[in-house]
Amino acid sequence: MSDAKYRRVLLKVSGEVLAGDQGYGIDPKMLDTIAEEIKEIASMGVETAVVIGGGNIFRGIAGSAAGMERTSADYMGMLATVLNALALQNILEKKGVFTRVQSAIEMKELAEGYIRRKAIRHLEKKRVVIFAAGTGNPYFSTDTAAVLRAMEIGAEVILKGTKVDGVFDRDPMKDPAARKFSELTFFEVIEKGLKIMDSTAVTLCMDNNLPLIVFNVKEKENIRKVLTGERVGTIIRKSR
Ligand code: UDP
Repeated sequence: MSDAKYRRVLLKVSGEVLAGDQGYGIDPKMLDTIAEEIKEIASMGVETAVVIGGGNIFRGIAGSAAGMERTSADYMGMLATVLNALALQNILEKKGVFTRVQSAIEMKELAEGYIRRKAIRHLEKKRVVIFAAGTGNPYFSTDTAAVLRAMEIGAEVILKGTKVDGVFDRDPMKDPAARKFSELTFFEVIEKGLKIMDSTAVTLCMDNNLPLIVFNVKEKENIRKVLTGERVGTIIRKSR
């Protein structure tokens, strides 16, 4: 019997994490680390959905800053998430984890379209579902897609894997004196201007009472600890 506290979770992996230390593209070592984490969650019998970012390849705002129309740039960003989703699917299947990729933009030769009830059915059959192409709409982020999909599939928590140990009052990469929060409310996140997710995603979590755990995806034991309810990283809830 699994001692997991959750039945169904949604893991958000940003493109920045996938890029590893190289800062761009897909770092094979990091991809392997993330796949091992997902395999671990699935092996605990927890139904697992993944929303993958695309910032390691293309970000809409960056494209529009370069003079590109924002909507076109955003669609390019969504396509970037599809590349990451296929890479993740490939490595997971190599490790013996059954997966399905569902894309919010139809691409039927390489992924299923997003159908909520079908996604839930895959999860019930213990397949890992990777959601690609964000929400399918420009002007959104994959963080917002993660919150939206988590609510749609009835996930009990969003796990946001990052390169640092949780949420800090300052950037711990730049300032070693930065202090980590062990818990926060979504209101505090907004009030303190903490950069965990964009504000649309934060308010969506807050309004729908969906907890979020931010943790270090590089620490091997972390995912098991998070799932068994041990205090790891930062937990953000509607109220304490
Ligand atoms: N994007 C979008 N709509 C969505 C999700 C993503 O337009 O629903 C675009 C947006 O341009 C974004 C890019 O895809 O910058 C990559 O996603 P994101 O920046 O969220 O990736 P992450 O920061 O997680 O790597």
